[in-house]
Amino acid sequence: MKLPFFLLALTTIAASAATRPYGLVIHGGAGVIERAALSPEREAEYRARLADALNAGYAVLESGGTSLDAVTAAINIMEDSPLFNAGKGAVFNADGICELDASIMDGRTQAAGAVAGVHHIKNPINLARDVMLKSAHVMMVGDGAEKFARSLGYEMMPNEYFQTDWRRQQLKKAQEKDGKERTAAQPGDYFTRTLRWGTVGCVALDKTGNLAAGTSTGGMTNKKFGRVGDAPIIGAGTYASNATCAVSATGWGEFFIRVGVARDIAAQMEYRGTPLRAAVAASLAKVARLGGDGGVIALDAQGNVAMEFNTPGMYRAAKLSGQPAVIAIYGDEAKP
Ligand code: ASP
Repeated sequence: MKLPFFLLALTTIAASAATRPYGLVIHGGAGVIERAALSPEREAEYRARLADALNAGYAVLESGGTSLDAVTAAINIMEDSPLFNAGKGAVFNADGICELDASIMDGRTQAAGAVAGVHHIKNPINLARDVMLKSAHVMMVGDGAEKFARSLGYEMMPNEYFQTDWRRQQLKKAQEKDGKERTAAQPGDYFTRTLRWGTVGCVALDKTGNLAAGTSTGGMTNKKFGRVGDAPIIGAGTYASNATCAVSATGWGEFFIRVGVARDIAAQMEYRGTPLRAAVAASLAKVARLGGDGGVIALDAQGNVAMEFNTPGMYRAAKLSGQPAVIAIYGDEAKP
C-alpha cells in the first residue's frame, strides 16, 4: 500500500522523535582522586549521591521536561551535598570563607546566566539561571548579585551554612604547604594539584533535542578573595549550543579560562566538523600543554557523550535513553 506523502512525512517525524536520544551527564569534579585516599564508605557515599543527581535529572527528561530543568535539578542535589565543592561543602578561600561561582547556558537560544563571588546563596546555579531569565545581563558578581537575589525573594544563608570541618582542614593544610612550597619555580603546585576536588556540572539533552549546560563551584582551596575561576565564565567552564554541544568543565580554572575550553570544543565541531570526543581531547591537551589539568563532560545533539580528564580521577555519571547508567570515579573505570 502506498501512503500519501503527508502521512509518510508524519510517520517519519514520529519515528525520529521516538528514537531521538535524550539523557544527561554529570560531574562532581576532577582531581587527585585515588583509591588509596577514599575509604569504601566514602566512595559509596559519592556513588550514591552521583546516582541521586543523575536520577533526578533523568526523571525530568523522561517526563518530557527541559534540559535546563534537568541541569538545575541534578546540580541542586550536588550543591546541597557536603561531599562536593559547590554550595554546602564548598572549599574555603584564603580569607576562610566560602565564595561561590556558577553558570548555566541554554543550547536552544544560547541565552546564558552566571554569578561569581557570592557568599550567601544556597544554590548558586538557581541564581545564575535567574540572571539569565530575569535580568538583562549574563553575569553578576558579589554584593550586586546578592542584591538581585534579595529582590527576587531569595533566602540569604549565613556563610557558615556552606562551611564544613573537612574543608577547613584542607585550607589549613594548603596554607601551611603553600607558604613553604610556593616559589617561582614551583608556583603552588601542592595547593592546586592535591587540594582541589569537587566542582559540579551537568550537560543534558531533552526529548525535543535541546541541549543545556551548567556548572557550580566553590573554586579552589586557598584561592585569593575575589578570584574567579572558569566555572562562571561562559565559553570557559560552561557552554551550550544546539548546533554543536553542551560542555561543563572542572579543573585548574586559570588554564581553562586561558584556553577558553568550553567554546573551543564547540568551535572545533562548528568550524571543522570534529567529532565531540576528539574535540574534547584536543582542548584538554591544550590545557595540559600550558601546565594545567582537569576534566570535561560534554554531550552533543546526537547523544554522543564525552567524560574526559587528565587528572587521576573525576566523579562522573551518565544516563542516556535506552542505555545503562554509568557511574565512575577513578581513571581506570569507564569514561563514556
Ligand atoms: N574549575 C574550578 C575553578 O577553577 C575548580 C575545580 O573544578 O576544581 O574554580
